[in-house]
Amino acid sequence: MAYKIDADACIGCAACVDECPVNAISDKDGKCEINPDECIECGACADVCPVDAPKEA
Ligand code: SF4
Ligand code: SF4
Repeated sequence: MAYKIDADACIGCAACVDECPVNAISDKDGKCEINPDECIECGACADVCPVDAPKEA
């Protein structure tokens, strides 16, 4: 289980990158991606995202 960013919704603001306590989020081609092997499902990225792109998968 991990959070997953909806690429269609993500606007690439990178606000979530700094919020992740385990550095699981990386910027890729103007969108952000979550490494499912590192995500601890804390929900911090979802809390800070302006477009509600990170979803519980
Ligand atoms: S849910 Fe938490 S650990 Fe997982 S990507 Fe978001 S901020 Fe990082
Ligand atoms: S905070 Fe939301 S819109 Fe901004 S990069 Fe992260 S997932 Fe994308």
